[in-house]
Amino acid sequence: MNIFEKVRESVTMQQVAELYSIDARRGMINCIFHDDKTPSMKLYDDHYYCFGCGAHG
Ligand SMILES: [Zn+2]
Repeated sequence: MNIFEKVRESVTMQQVAELYSIDARRGMINCIFHDDKTPSMKLYDDHYYCFGCGAHG
């Protein structure tokens, strides 16, 4: 298990939403789990999913 997998397991949707409280309103944010040049993480009401690296929670 690498560091990113550890982070991925410990970060909740709530924390991600708070971290990106402004950008989250647009629904798409830069993924925090990989080197994201363009917003590829989609925030839903109760979960998130990254189209770049597949992170979800
Ligand atoms: Zn990602």
